[in-house]
Amino acid sequence: MPATRILPSPAPFRKRRGVAQVLVPVLPSEVVIATQPVTRHSPPATPESQATASHELLSYYDALFRARGPQHWWPGRTRFEVIVGAILTQNTSWTNVERAIVNLRRERLLTPAAMEKVPTARLAKLIRSSGYFRQKARKLKAFVAFLRQNYQGSLNKLFATSTEQLREQLLAVHGIGPETADSILLYAGQHKVFVVDAYTRRILERHNLTHPKATYEEIRALFEQNLPADPLLYNEYHALIVHTGKHHCRTHQPDCANCPLSSFLPAPVAQTLLSVSPQPTREPSSRLATRHAPRATSESPNTSHQS
Ligand code: SF4
Repeated sequence: MPATRILPSPAPFRKRRGVAQVLVPVLPSEVVIATQPVTRHSPPATPESQATASHELLSYYDALFRARGPQHWWPGRTRFEVIVGAILTQNTSWTNVERAIVNLRRERLLTPAAMEKVPTARLAKLIRSSGYFRQKARKLKAFVAFLRQNYQGSLNKLFATSTEQLREQLLAVHGIGPETADSILLYAGQHKVFVVDAYTRRILERHNLTHPKATYEEIRALFEQNLPADPLLYNEYHALIVHTGKHHCRTHQPDCANCPLSSFLPAPVAQTLLSVSPQPTREPSSRLATRHAPRATSESPNTSHQS
């Protein structure tokens, strides 16, 4: 059986371009490797195009990790708190979610059993800061009911389910869409699922790595089929993408000049985007990394996701 490559995630890769083979030690049969090329290169897949896709995505990761360091996602004291956060962060900032979680913790409602017992109206009041609070209270209730009915309220049993089956079940729960389901699977359950959000899409589009009509599943497949199947890598990569989206890849006036991914911009795109970008900062990149890297902050998870 031919050797496959494994990444020392979530550590940064040691080189950037041209030497993907050097970045990763070769170990026998440990990791799934790419089966599809990036969309830009379109099918049919060849070993060369797959290697290119993997190398490109890993190079992006490397650049982000070197510049920003570990993001320490997902902030949450327990798996259930991570799940609650994943639902509450839909369409709002993480700061607003944090206030709601503080309320729930104070009222000792951050367990599935307690959350199922509390009246929906009271739950809604406690999570008011997260916006759409009545809807979100119903979503939280729907999740804990699902957990009890299918897994006797046990998160261990829930996450022992196969990724495919559990993802399908989660998507059938009221208020849980692909991004929330994948956030729960990855960040609470350490399942090998890549989370896609609006920032991911925007960055890929601006770098010509996907097209505007690409579906959520196509973008998820782009990462999962071209990266080692490693939840730690997926965890860090998504978090770094969100950081980049918030700090650099804004809808208007993207800050390409200071972005760790600027060297990957295709030339014609770079010409356009750099012309609207603020001037580069003079701060050395090592200081930037120190300043931005260390901890999950109040701006952490939210990713502008819908559900
Ligand atoms: S280089 Fe520019 S387009 Fe690319 S991710 Fe950074 S801000 Fe966005």
